[in-house]
Amino acid sequence: MEKVIISAALTGAVTPKSANPSIPLTPDEIADDAVRCWKAGASVVHLHMRDADGVGTMDKDRFLSAVSMIRERCDVVINCTTSGDNRASDEQRMAHLEPVKPEIASFDSGSFNWMPSGVFMNSPQFLEKLAGRMRGLGVKPEIEVFDSGMIGVAGYYIKKGLITGNPHYQLCLGVLGGADATVENLLYLRRMLPENATWSAFGIGKGHLPILYATIALGGHVRVGLEDNVYYDKGVPATNESLVARAARVIREANKEPATPAEARAMLGLVEA
Ligand code: ZN
Repeated sequence: MEKVIISAALTGAVTPKSANPSIPLTPDEIADDAVRCWKAGASVVHLHMRDADGVGTMDKDRFLSAVSMIRERCDVVINCTTSGDNRASDEQRMAHLEPVKPEIASFDSGSFNWMPSGVFMNSPQFLEKLAGRMRGLGVKPEIEVFDSGMIGVAGYYIKKGLITGNPHYQLCLGVLGGADATVENLLYLRRMLPENATWSAFGIGKGHLPILYATIALGGHVRVGLEDNVYYDKGVPATNESLVARAARVIREANKEPATPAEARAMLGLVEA
């Protein structure tokens, strides 16, 4: 039976508890939620950290603390962000990779106006360093794509040999400034991916369900979680666990099966440490 990887994006860099009280902020809360999502069918967790005030931080000790707790309790694949704080320097954005050794980390292959908060900055100089660092440490890039030009940017690093193996893409739809979360855009972007690629997608906010269903129909993998979507239904607050459980149910209804972490590792070509 076809396996579908569910990635749970637990917290992101921005959303406060006031928007959804279930958003995990401390390393303990993040680890607890990661384990709950793994039990509900997630095979990957995409992690950001927050500081003591709940603001996104690239503090490597917080990453290490949360990831150590998760690894003690389950075998879920760890995917760490590299863009968890727009005030962080290039070096700070990569500082956690060596101590934490996540199997995957995000690689945002371009910059744009993330409306209305600011410029989402991923310069060519940063991406070159990041791709080299990840390759050196054996961390697989998850190429986050917010619009079509970013697929070409990623292709540049693939051609340069800085991204090797079968590339993995995360199509992130619905941010104002990037591609809108429509099924038409999903089809368009997916057609541009290299033949040997694996891919996953999500839509934020009200784009969540159309993109979830379309991605499963198209044979992609899915991402869900409070980083992208704080409502389960109109006016009904979500939890990470409830969003993962729904994705798992939809996958089974489609005659597919949520991938286990071991199956996700095999599909993504991850080598176990
Ligand atoms: Zn993220």
